Amino acid sequence: MTDVETLRRKLESLRDELSERRERIDAHGRDGVPADFAEQVTARENDDVVQSLKVQIDGELRQIGAALKRIEAGEYGRCTRCGEDIAPARLDVLPYAEHCTACAD
Ligand SMILES: [Zn+2]
Repeated sequence: MTDVETLRRKLESLRDELSERRERIDAHGRDGVPADFAEQVTARENDDVVQSLKVQIDGELRQIGAALKRIEAGEYGRCTRCGEDIAPARLDVLPYAEHCTACAD
């Protein structure tokens, strides 16, 4: 049986870690604009990287939040698509997994 408490703690520490990283990225984004044009180009490329990183982190945070809500509701570990139990091994790797292996992309 899946130990929900362990996974909850795992999800919460993962959430804290991601929130912290998100804040660091935001703080970094407030650095001044480089005067040199070449540096500006690099900065813009970095912006794209930073932007996609933010999107990725936000997506993960959303999934973690949803997983924590499912724990509260007592629905954690069930596939949100077909209702079957998600394999514990899968939850171990991806504690915020919404779908079972069969329903995953
Ligand atoms: Zn499923």
